[in-house]
Amino acid sequence: MTPRPRPDIASMAGYTPGEQPAAGLRVVKLNTNENPFPPSPRAVAAIRDYDPDSLRRYPDPTADQFRDAVAKRHGLTRGHVIAGNGSDDILSIVLRTYVGPGEIIAWPNPTYSLYPVLAEIAGAKIASVPWETGWRLPAQALIATGAKAIFFANPNAPSGTLVPNGEIETLARQFPGLVLVDEAYADFAGIDAVGLLASCPNVVISRTLSKGYGLCGIRLGYALAAPAIVDQLMKVKDSYNCNALAIAAGTAAIEDHAYAEQTWQAVRSERARVNAELERRGFAVIPSHANFLLATVPAGQDARTLYQGLKQRGILIRFFDKPGLSDKLRISIGRSDENDALLSGLAALGAG
Ligand code: PMP
Repeated sequence: MTPRPRPDIASMAGYTPGEQPAAGLRVVKLNTNENPFPPSPRAVAAIRDYDPDSLRRYPDPTADQFRDAVAKRHGLTRGHVIAGNGSDDILSIVLRTYVGPGEIIAWPNPTYSLYPVLAEIAGAKIASVPWETGWRLPAQALIATGAKAIFFANPNAPSGTLVPNGEIETLARQFPGLVLVDEAYADFAGIDAVGLLASCPNVVISRTLSKGYGLCGIRLGYALAAPAIVDQLMKVKDSYNCNALAIAAGTAAIEDHAYAEQTWQAVRSERARVNAELERRGFAVIPSHANFLLATVPAGQDARTLYQGLKQRGILIRFFDKPGLSDKLRISIGRSDENDALLSGLAALGAG
């Protein structure tokens, strides 16, 4: 007999990741906000030079070598850092530590579509509050939900918009629960909320090596928070949540700041170019601080049809069949040749 799962798990849908084409298939992949540039040569060398014999042993359960490199980058201490198997792992750990079954978690909507999945798994109640006009943080409405925690992505996905630090600080001071600022894309913004940790003891910042460091494949992320919070999160994480190769490569990548910074600059300059080109073609583009653009298709065009047409040409972008998003396309910023392919693909489909 098939065992019966928890009824709430049976009825939930689960997370739908962006499409990953089969290995070896040549596509222009602008659908999952990956960094178009390879990781630092120092990160690659760290994997190549890793002593295979050491793989017999368990990795450091708290990834201290990596935590020290992260602490140095942000001017904090090891005690302010916890490492995770991607920042998805961090989000899950924070949620399970601070929001119990039946308690409320709130976020501004639309945002990263993993949050509701994690909340459902934890048995938490969801309060999803629409962004105010112009993608402004609905702080008072979020506080009024009575949530134990507020999560929001900054820059936000899929809009790429940024909430200024002053507004985050006001929220954190007024809200009695935990405020998680998901900074998966902050490297491309060049602005972050790390400075608020000193004055706001209820703020947790999550970060990833996936986007800014071109290391989606190794699964490494981290949270920055007051040591009192990190101590609690440490109890909830899996015992060996980061593997040895990820720790070695991630440490080398963080330490090679100059290389990473160069890729962020290149992404920013391509972002400005693609934004201008799309506007010239009649798209309405929201100014983005991330490595992707959310663009409303020109009048007379259908977003889903353009998405499908590009797909047939081997160009993958993202279309969300959701209220408020179904007239828009989310386009990750690629290398300039990939962005050129996107722009000519749109032109061939009559959008440009
Ligand atoms: N936060 C946001 C807003 C994201 O878009 C993503 C990537 N899908 C993540 C977190 C998670 O990234 P990762 O688990 O690769 O660190």
